[in-house]
Amino acid sequence: MSKFWSPLVNDLVPYVPGEQPKVANLVKLNTNENPYGPSPKVLEAIRGELDESLRLYPDPEGESLRQTIADYYQVTPEQVFLGNGSDEVLAHIFYGLFQHGEPVLFPDITYSFYPVYCGLYKIEGQPVPVTDSFEIDPEDYKQPNGGIILPNPNAPTGRYLGLGHIEDILKSNPDRVVVIDEAYVDFGGDTAIALVDRYPNLLVSQTLSKARSLAGLRVGFAVGHPDLIEALNRVKNSFNSYPLDRLALAGAQAAFEDEEWFQKCCHGVIAERERLTAALEGLSFEVLPSKANFVFARHTTKSGADIAAGLREQGIIVRHFNKPRIQEFLRITIGTPEQNDALISGLQTL
Ligand code: PMP
Repeated sequence: MSKFWSPLVNDLVPYVPGEQPKVANLVKLNTNENPYGPSPKVLEAIRGELDESLRLYPDPEGESLRQTIADYYQVTPEQVFLGNGSDEVLAHIFYGLFQHGEPVLFPDITYSFYPVYCGLYKIEGQPVPVTDSFEIDPEDYKQPNGGIILPNPNAPTGRYLGLGHIEDILKSNPDRVVVIDEAYVDFGGDTAIALVDRYPNLLVSQTLSKARSLAGLRVGFAVGHPDLIEALNRVKNSFNSYPLDRLALAGAQAAFEDEEWFQKCCHGVIAERERLTAALEGLSFEVLPSKANFVFARHTTKSGADIAAGLREQGIIVRHFNKPRIQEFLRITIGTPEQNDALISGLQTL
């Protein structure tokens, strides 16, 4: 604390991102990045932007990328909002679409940025316990609220909620915005974007950081009714009119234009997720069913913290959360077959 700090900063409890190690030769399975690189066409598109046009500001509306995303999901560009990573999209959602004075509902085991945004904007967050099997029960979201946000699949559990249950939640909250954070949906889930034309209170956020291997480019987007998108644009233009730079706009667009690469990466991750799940079960882990690019698993006898520390000594990083109910769990990102083999061998030595 310093005398120069605003009182607002004194109160902040910031998000702590997973470790991004400085050394390269680690098996990094801690922050749910895609083990396969971005499409070569993405790299080519970014290289194509490296010229004197960088002196000019990018398109503040990202029109061409919004059109591409709209075509991909069969919506209109007026239903698409772009942000610098979905974290920024979510920040604008918390500011612009949740009602103050009423609690915003989210699962108690979920993405830890949600309570951080509540703190930043002085919104009351109300964690709703997940069930004994770590599932989201739609019945629990039928209570007065200022908005709802659910990741689907949930993080860090990987558990997935079918679209029928999401419709239940949308129908029981017609006057509140329901946000489905689909950071991990491409690894086996169905997107709720299919529902946006039927539910004006639905907003779906997605990222290019996971299935499209572009965590380093920082591109996220949201799809919903044009009225919701207009609110997000007002917030954006009160904060940073140019959230996506020229390289990000071009790279993101190329990513949507290479469906073959996208499908190949998703199928590779899904196949390895199934193989790793079986291997972990063989090593006495209980593994929650996952539709994400990670698994959430606990050993039947050994402590989660000890296993994470033991793996770290071998140069393998997984995520361990020191939080109630999940201290014994490890969240393990699905790596390449070689990385997953290294993890399995590492576990065998502990
Ligand atoms: N939502 C969830 C559930 C996540 O796990 C993440 C990644 N940590 C994000 C959103 C944000 O992703 P990004 O800002 O890279 O788009």
